[in-house]
Formats: sequence, C-alpha cells, structure tokens
Amino acid sequence: MAHPRYPHVFAPLDLGFTRLKNRILMGSMHTGLEDIEGGFERMAAFFAERARGGVGMIITGGIAPNHEGGGGAKLSTPAEAAQHRIVTDAVHAADPDVKIVMQILHAGPLAGTPACVAPSAIRSRIGRFVPNELDADGIEKQLADFANCAALAKSAGYDGVEIIGSAGYLLSTFLVERTNTRTDEWGGDFTNRMRFPVEVIRRARAAVGDDFILVFRIPAMDMLEGGMSGEEVIELAQAVEAAGASIISTHFTWHEAQVPTIATMVPRAAFAEVTGRIRKHVGVPMITSNRINMPDVAEAVLAAGHADLVSMARPMLADADLVNKARDGREDEINTCIACNQACLDHTFTGKLTSCLVNPRACNETLMPVRPAAVARDLAVVGAGPAGLAFAVEAAQRGHRITLYDAAPEIGGQFNLARRVPGKEEFSETLRYFRRMIDKLGITLKLNTRADAALLAAAGHDEVVVATGIRPRVPDLPGIDHPKAVGYIDAILGHRPVGRRVAIMGAGGIGFDVATLITHAGPSAAVDIPTFCREWGVDFANHPRGGVTGVPIQIEKADREVVILQRRDGAPGKTLGRTTGWTHRLSLVRRGVKLIGGVTYLKIDDDGLHTLVNGEPTLFAVDTVIICAGQEPERSLYDALLAAGINARLIGGANEAAELDAKRAIAEATELALAS
Ligand code: FAD
Ligand code: NAP
Ligand code: SF4
Repeated sequence: MAHPRYPHVFAPLDLGFTRLKNRILMGSMHTGLEDIEGGFERMAAFFAERARGGVGMIITGGIAPNHEGGGGAKLSTPAEAAQHRIVTDAVHAADPDVKIVMQILHAGPLAGTPACVAPSAIRSRIGRFVPNELDADGIEKQLADFANCAALAKSAGYDGVEIIGSAGYLLSTFLVERTNTRTDEWGGDFTNRMRFPVEVIRRARAAVGDDFILVFRIPAMDMLEGGMSGEEVIELAQAVEAAGASIISTHFTWHEAQVPTIATMVPRAAFAEVTGRIRKHVGVPMITSNRINMPDVAEAVLAAGHADLVSMARPMLADADLVNKARDGREDEINTCIACNQACLDHTFTGKLTSCLVNPRACNETLMPVRPAAVARDLAVVGAGPAGLAFAVEAAQRGHRITLYDAAPEIGGQFNLARRVPGKEEFSETLRYFRRMIDKLGITLKLNTRADAALLAAAGHDEVVVATGIRPRVPDLPGIDHPKAVGYIDAILGHRPVGRRVAIMGAGGIGFDVATLITHAGPSAAVDIPTFCREWGVDFANHPRGGVTGVPIQIEKADREVVILQRRDGAPGKTLGRTTGWTHRLSLVRRGVKLIGGVTYLKIDDDGLHTLVNGEPTLFAVDTVIICAGQEPERSLYDALLAAGINARLIGGANEAAELDAKRAIAEATELALAS
C-alpha cells in the first residue's frame, strides 16, 4: 500500500537484477575515516546506523582506483578490498535490504600527489600540482585500474559502485576544452572528449557483470564559463547508459566554479529541474541532489517527475533516522541539516574528520555511544541557546529529569538572531527540532525566567548546567555611547534605527551577517529560485554552456553604503568558513560593500567614525556604527552559584566565548550530556 504522505518516496525501485526499498539514498561524502587507523570500524558503525535509519541505498565516500587518483585511500589490491568487508557486512547485517555502493573517485588534477594525472598538463585553479599529461599507455592504465577497482569492490561485498564523472575530477576534465587540449582520439570534438568517461563505464560493466549497480555521476551543470552545454550533457547521459550504467546521478558544479551549490544560501531542491530535463532523454533511473533536506522536499521532487531517486548526503549526517521518522509520521523530530558546511565540508577541506554541527555524534558513533544514565538525576539547565538545548535533549534522552530555564520568551539564544539573516532561514529548523524534543522528552521549560542563585537553590536540583552564553564585547573607545553607535543585537532585531551610511566595526561572521541583513532587499535568494539565479548568474531553464549566463549579476539591494572594518591587516573575511566564506565575501562585494583591514579606531562623534587606516587618518562619515566586535562569556550566574556553594558546570559561550560557534557549543554540550 502506498505511504499516505510520501507515496513516491516509499515506492520501491526495481532495477531488474535487484530492488531498492525506497527512493532515498545517502549521497557520497568524504569522511576522512578511510585514511585513519581504526577508520573502517568507525565507518562501519556510521553507515550501519544510517542503514538502520531506513535509507534505501548508501554511497560511501570516494575511494581512488590507484595512487595517482587520490594520494590517500585507494582500492587496487585484494588486501585493500578485505578492509572494506567490515563496512559492507555491518550495513547488510543492519538491514539486508539496504544497498551499499562504493564511490570510485579519481581526482585527476585535484589529487593530492605530484603523481596526479589529467588529459592535459593544466593545473586547476584549486589544485596543488600541475598534473602529468596521460599518454596512450597511461590512459590504458587508468581504464584498467577503474575496472580492477570496480571488480574489487564487488569482491568486498558492495552492491555496486558509483563512478564520479564531475566536479573537476579526472573524468570531467576530459569533457571540456579548458582542461582537455588533446588532439588524439581522447580530445577534440565532444565525441572524442567523452570517450574516456564512457570507456570507463564500459570497462567497469565488463568487469563486474550485469548483476551489480553501476552509478555514473554526471556533471549535469558544471557552472563553468565555456563548460558543457545542455545538449552535451544529454549526449553523455545517453552514451553512459548505452555503456552499461544502471543509474545516472546528477552533480552540479566543479569545485573551482564560483556559484554556491550546497551552502545554506542555496534554495532547497534548486537544481532538481535540471535533472528532470535530462531524465526525459534516458531510460535508466536518475538521481537528483543538492539542498534536499526534508522528506516533503524529496516527495515534491519525485512527484514532479524531476528524478527517480533523491540523494540526501549531509541530511544523513544531521539525522541518521531521517527516513524512518518520515515513514512513521515523525518528521517534526528530524534534526534538519542547515547547510552550514561547518563540520562537514569545511572539515574535509581542512584535513579534519567529518562530523555535523547539529549532530556531533556523526562519524563518532563508536566514541560517543548513547547509553541510559546509571542514576537518573534532577538537572537544571540555564540558557536555552544551542548549548543548553543540546545538553537538555541529550541528557533527557539518557533518563535525567531536566528543567530548562531561559530569560527570553523563546528558546534559541543567538540562533534567534542568526535565523533573521537572509540565507540563514534553515536555522529555524534547528529550533523546531529542539521545541519538539523538549515536548516529547517531557523537559520542563521555564521561559521568561532569569535564573539566579536563590531560585536555583530553592528548586533543589542535583546539579546546574550553566549555558548562559555571551555578552557582546563593547570596545573601550571614546564615543562608544554616542547615539550613532548601535550594538549588533539591536541592529538585527530592529530595536535601534540603522542609517543609510553605515560602518560595521568587526569582520567576523556576525559583522558579515549584519552587512548581509542591512544591504538586503526583496526576496531572499535562499528561498526563491529565480532570485538565486539572478544573483548568481545561473540559467536552469535554458542551460547555456556551464549553466552560467555570463551577463552582469543582478542583485536587488537596499539603498545603503556599507563598509566592514577590522583592525587586523589584510582583507576582511579570512576567518569565515572555508567552503562558504567566499560566497559571503563575493555576495557583499557585489552589493557594493567595502571591506577594509588595518584599521585603528579612534573615536565616534557627530561626524562619524574616526580611524587610522594603515596609519592614515580616515573619517568614515557615517550615520551608524554597528558594533560587531566579538563577545565575552556571560558568567555572572556561574560566579554567583560558586559563591553560594551550588554545584555547577559551564558549557558553550559561557565557558569560552573566543571563537565560539554553534558547532563547538553543541559538541561541548553533547559530550557533557553523554558523560553525565
Ligand atoms: P547563546 O546562544 O548566547 O544562548 C544563551 C542563552 O542563555 C540565551 O537564550 C539567554 O537568554 C540565556 N540566559 C543567559 N543568562 C540567563 C539567566 N541567568 N537565566 C536564564 N537564561 C539566561 N554560529 C555558527 O556556528 N554558525 C553560524 O552561522 C552562526 N551565525 C550566527 C549569526 C548571528 C547573527 C549570531 C548572533 C550568531 C551566530 N552564530 C553562528 C553563533 C552562535 O549562535 C553561537 O555560537 C551560539 O548561539 C552559542 O550558543 P550558547 O548556547 O553558548 O549561547
Ligand atoms: P569573531 O569572529 O571573533 O569576530 C569579531 C570581530 O571583532 C573580529 O573582526 C575582530 O577583528 C573584531 N574585534 C575583536 N575585538 C575587538 C575590539 N576590542 N574592538 C574592535 N574590534 C574588535 O566574532 P563574531 O563575528 O562576533 O562571531 C561570533 C562567533 O559566531 C564566531 O566565532 C563565528 O564563528 C560565529 N559565527 C559564524 C558564522 C558563520 O557563518 N559560520 C556567522 C556568524 C557568527 P579585529 O580584532 O581584527 O578587529
Ligand atoms: Fe548539514 Fe551543517 Fe551538519 Fe554539514 S555540519 S551536515 S551542513 S548541519
């Protein structure tokens, strides 16, 4: 019988030789676990938890077919294949109906080794090495290595392999002229340029036989000027289908392109219609992806005929049980991926293990087991920001009785400021999740209640967890109390007017967010696909080469002149997230915001903000100076509790405000709750 709410999501998919139990798969993500001692055991636990969570198919992080394809984890020998057994066995033991597919990733010019190879010796803008141009023997070796890797994956118990043909990795570099200048049969016209990826599929199919899933990840829109045209993408899709692919998965962008495709500022399911257009031209099932983070979005995409399967990658880090919760009508309990990239992609690109901001247990399942508390205790949690919320929910799940206090009329702490910033609408989902869990777990919530030592002593809790967050730092500067000076909280909440000419003092995440908010006009691009297309120069409907228009970017903006300042030398924005910082910087620069470093603040008066910029006296003749100068821990309650002899623990911003973000606040709270 069809599922009443998600009939398309829960319809099985028959692949002829095998069947997928539903239409949601966990997309490939690099976790870093494959490269560390004991990593395969952790990977097994990580994937098994997702298999138990109801997903139909899991695609692992990329494994290279040879050394030159990655420089890290590879699968080219039977001994390496044996290491994978623990992963495939764990997934099949968790649920024999769940398919586990290994991604074969040959990074080409992006591989982290001087041995890296490519069709032509052209260094990628983001690559570390000039790749070695493949000669005829080299091409033959790569083809053989792909086939060998696929066969070894089958021997290791995988149900299939996915071969990535996009993102600026090896296969995709054959496809476009900017990286393939060859004049032999592997370069030149498009038939020649697509010969290598098609041959990889043909060889892999020959190596694994018919009863094995073979997914090809196609560069459906590479977001490169002069990239692939819509017609070329369809031609390639048809050719890989004929060569033996059982499923085609669509991938958007090369890593070096300048269009955000998964950041929180990208609208949900923005790219699905591109998949839908290709789907009309092929016979095999197609997977769509990118910013599909909730089951209703997946259902809508499938119902619209845009795809046969939906890939949810990061949402499976955020909540391993997402699919079961949808199946059981508990979607309000889903801990939604907010597309921040802070603990997943930012970690990958800085050499750290992947995890998740909203779920620090992701990839740490064996290190952070959830067990019932040995003794259930009565715990007070003061502060319902991310730290207090995470502690309260984890501790309640372990059986503790929790009373959660907050002085504010609603839960969320600073997330209530963050969610007001255009592009951060998803942050509201985290608060919806916590609200539901407070209700479900019977946590006593006392809002509009400023807890003090007397109140807590009278309540007689066994222990108090202090998660009182931060106080904005007020710089010691003449004129800081001038009417032109406005704190960021008042600016965001609209409690104080912000003028037309604005200087923002401080260039951290909050300074950038405030600049985004006050220069914004019209619909938020994060929730409106046409606005997103205009702001980032993308054309989904007509698919010009690369999908990018090349016309001047059209951005609706507020009538304001804004400058962001920092004391440090150099351009502001260096401390922003590795994979998202550039989008924030670019977006503000396109709104005319100026970014200035090397500033010494002198005073604020009726004329504006007086400074030295690189030693030169400079007056910013502004109407408003918004102070975004970092934070100090709010520990007044903690100090009072200690003085009163009350047992208390500190977490989140109250513990350490410097460089605090929600990732650290939630991780710290979760660790303490699991140990309490
Ligand atoms: P807080 O969120 O500050 O919560 C503290 C809570 O304690 C508050 O609700 C307060 O009312 C309550 N409280 C204080 N004293 C008492 C008392 N005596 N009794 C009762 N209640 C009390 N971080 C990210 O990781 N990524 C982002 O993209 C991001 N964007 C941001 C954007 C903006 C505009 C802002 C302002 C912050 C952003 N942050 C972001 C930072 C993130 O929100 C904080 O790091 C996080 O909220 C800190 O959590 P916390 O629980 O320690 O403190
Ligand atoms: P922050 O990143 O520490 O930035 C504070 C800014 O204030 C810096 O530019 C600092 O630069 C300046 N500053 C510090 N002391 C000052 C002083 N005495 N006078 C004048 N300027 C001073 O902090 P934040 O922007 O307040 O953000 C708080 C936390 O929230 C951050 O850790 C951040 O990770 C998180 N957050 C993240 C995001 C995101 O998108 N990921 C968004 C918002 C917030 P100089 O010292 O060089 O002037
Ligand atoms: Fe999603 Fe952020 Fe978690 Fe990554 S870290 S999975 S983007 S919520």
